[in-house]
Amino acid sequence: MHVVVIGAGVMGVTTAWYLREAGLDVTLLDAATEPAAGASHANGGMLHASHAEPWNTPGVGLDLLRYLGREDSPLLMRPRALPGLAGWGLRFLWHSRRLAFQRHALVNARLAAFSLRETRRLNRELAGSGLDFDFRESGILKVFRDPQSQARNRHAAEAMQDEGVRFEAWDTEQVINREPALAGVRDELCGGLYFPDDAIGDARRFTTGLLELARDRGLRYRPATRVRRLRTFQGRIDAIETDEGPIAADACVVASGHEAPALLRPLGLHLPVAPVKGYSLTLPMDTGHRVQLPLIDDANKVVMTPLGDQLRLAGTAEFAGADARMEPRRAANVLAQCRRTLTTLPAELDRETMAPWAGLRPMSDRGTPILGPTAVPGLHLNTGSGHLGWTFACGAAALVRDGLLGRAPEASLEDFRL
Ligand SMILES: Cc1cc2nc3c(=O)[nH]c(=O)nc-3n(C[C@H](O)[C@H](O)[C@H](O)COP(=O)(O)OP(=O)(O)OC[C@H]3O[C@@H](n4cnc5c(N)ncnc54)[C@H](O)[C@@H]3O)c2cc1C
Repeated sequence: MHVVVIGAGVMGVTTAWYLREAGLDVTLLDAATEPAAGASHANGGMLHASHAEPWNTPGVGLDLLRYLGREDSPLLMRPRALPGLAGWGLRFLWHSRRLAFQRHALVNARLAAFSLRETRRLNRELAGSGLDFDFRESGILKVFRDPQSQARNRHAAEAMQDEGVRFEAWDTEQVINREPALAGVRDELCGGLYFPDDAIGDARRFTTGLLELARDRGLRYRPATRVRRLRTFQGRIDAIETDEGPIAADACVVASGHEAPALLRPLGLHLPVAPVKGYSLTLPMDTGHRVQLPLIDDANKVVMTPLGDQLRLAGTAEFAGADARMEPRRAANVLAQCRRTLTTLPAELDRETMAPWAGLRPMSDRGTPILGPTAVPGLHLNTGSGHLGWTFACGAAALVRDGLLGRAPEASLEDFRL
């Protein structure tokens, strides 16, 4: 059975790995010349089941209005993106109803906890083969300045405990003892939640490393090959048409991130995925701002992740259409937000030493990924992971493999269907 996987981001490469390990003949295609050239390039590095809640929290509509056009906000809606977002945006708001949100949060938490177990297993099994992606089972610390928000987050963490997400509530003294880099904001904090089972790792190094190992085991990888159309014969997938010519296929997995909807449209399938832009900065972790633990600041909606000898700062959600350009003003905004937490960070954005980056998260309207078989025989999906693609990668790939092979999956695929 020949399977073509479209997209060499973290979802596509991990899917290709799982399919190849199951003994299938696999070809991986990507329009870019390098793997992890899209959203998987320099993300926040957090593998966090603890943050499995969708972004369309109840009340998100008011937040979006409040921040409309505000360049200094963590959440930015560009007025020019509004027409393109009309249908998706309304459904995004519809899914922010409390019960829908709570259900989707639990579904995500279950997948994320399973995925973390799979990531640990792969890390253990492949470390000897040279897979190194700065993986650390450090846990993740989220700090708070607003007691109400802290109580809300604690309540959400309690709800996820049944899905295997453990947490510890720390007072401010415990927070500072465990993370001295937060001493500069001691008086502003009201405590933290520590999630011991969360982990961190570099998604790009994982993606490129796993791809190399998969190629050693027989995966065919064709970079710089754009897919133009999915061809069907008698209603099922029979070939993938690319700008390098057609490739015969018994099945395909579309893992082309925020660009996936365009490939499905000609088949009459509507895939509710839209790009949500985010920014990161990667800087050397010198003694001035060395952090022990990966941090999330609840008030500023930013993450600060030590990855090897570097510090990754990431954040912002920008509804700006499919525009991946790096705008220095928005990158500087991430630095300014992080500096409210790590006060020793430099005040000015230095593009030489801070490697700014922007990427487009493939966000589904309901806030859960879209995985598995579709109504078109032979067509499978792995996209829509939004802000959690790195966390979900291994678990989602295992479920897609099971769906494709007709095996009973570890977690129900029903929750993730198109
Ligand atoms: C700033 C930021 C911080 C983040 N932080 C975290 C985090 O801490 N933890 C976490 O879990 N997640 C995080 N994420 C989310 C995560 O990075 C994404 O969900 C994930 O990278 C999506 O991977 P993907 O493979 O679906 O998409 P991508 O990585 O975008 O890959 C899609 C690939 O498909 C290719 N492609 C598209 N169309 C075609 C076509 N027609 N033909 C051939 N190839 C095509 C593209 O070239 C691209 O390489 C973050 C994202 C951002 C932007």
